[in-house]
Amino acid sequence: MISIEVTDLTKTYDRNRTALLGPTFTVRPGRVTGFLGPNGAGKSTTLRLLLGLDRPDSGSATLGGRPYAALGEPLRTVGALLDTEAVHRARTAYGHLRWLAVSNRLPQRRVEEVLAATGLTAVARRRVGTFSLGMRQRLGIAAALLGDPAVLILDEPSNGLDPEGIVWIRHLLRRLAAQERTVLVSSHLMGETAAFADHLVILAGGRLLADTPVGDFLERN
Ligand code: ADP
Ligand code: ADP
Repeated sequence: MISIEVTDLTKTYDRNRTALLGPTFTVRPGRVTGFLGPNGAGKSTTLRLLLGLDRPDSGSATLGGRPYAALGEPLRTVGALLDTEAVHRARTAYGHLRWLAVSNRLPQRRVEEVLAATGLTAVARRRVGTFSLGMRQRLGIAAALLGDPAVLILDEPSNGLDPEGIVWIRHLLRRLAAQERTVLVSSHLMGETAAFADHLVILAGGRLLADTPVGDFLERN
């Protein structure tokens, strides 16, 4: 089991665009942690730093005590969904996942497993360019699950999903947490997230506003 540790993390983009002003928090396994805050709070920046896609100015963001770059086989440790991720439109869903599996030396059977887990088996041979936003979101989640990772980092995973899809993702997240995985899910929707998360980490203006079990938060607010 792996915890995510964010310590005194700071990041400023070109000149005075300060995204993070030193939040410190731990995300523990076996529960769904909602990562909340209004647009511009610094959530995506934090996730990008965790995934080694950018460097902090100071502080650290680690997974089981190691920075992302130090993980031997990253996909086996961390599965991520970022809204910026582009999938080749000419590829089929199956082709995309197969390519990911091969290039990361993951067993081929994982492709069928994650297609089934995300409800994409029936459309696996269709080109991604023909997919709705919700189907693309499911494919992104399938890719995140491919390495059977201990840690899931998902940026606004219910974006583009229809109501049925939103119920589905909630159940999936609950199941992943029940499997003792570490599940961090960002959202700008407080009420929606409090409905399925166990724990909330809330940022505002690049600072930590709250780090609390959902029950305590609901009682106080
Ligand atoms: P959130 O995900 O909570 O909406 P972000 O981490 O995307 O917040 O953004 C935090 C702040 O950093 C915002 O002021 C945003 O405009 C700025 N920012 C984010 N990414 C960049 C970037 N690549 N270049 C410049 N500024 C950025
Ligand atoms: P249910 O009890 O709803 O059937 P399961 O946990 O048995 O749920 O999962 C159903 C399918 O989802 C199985 O094919 C399983 O391999 C797949 N699955 C479950 N968890 C994961 C995961 N973390 N990564 C990839 N596939 C998963």
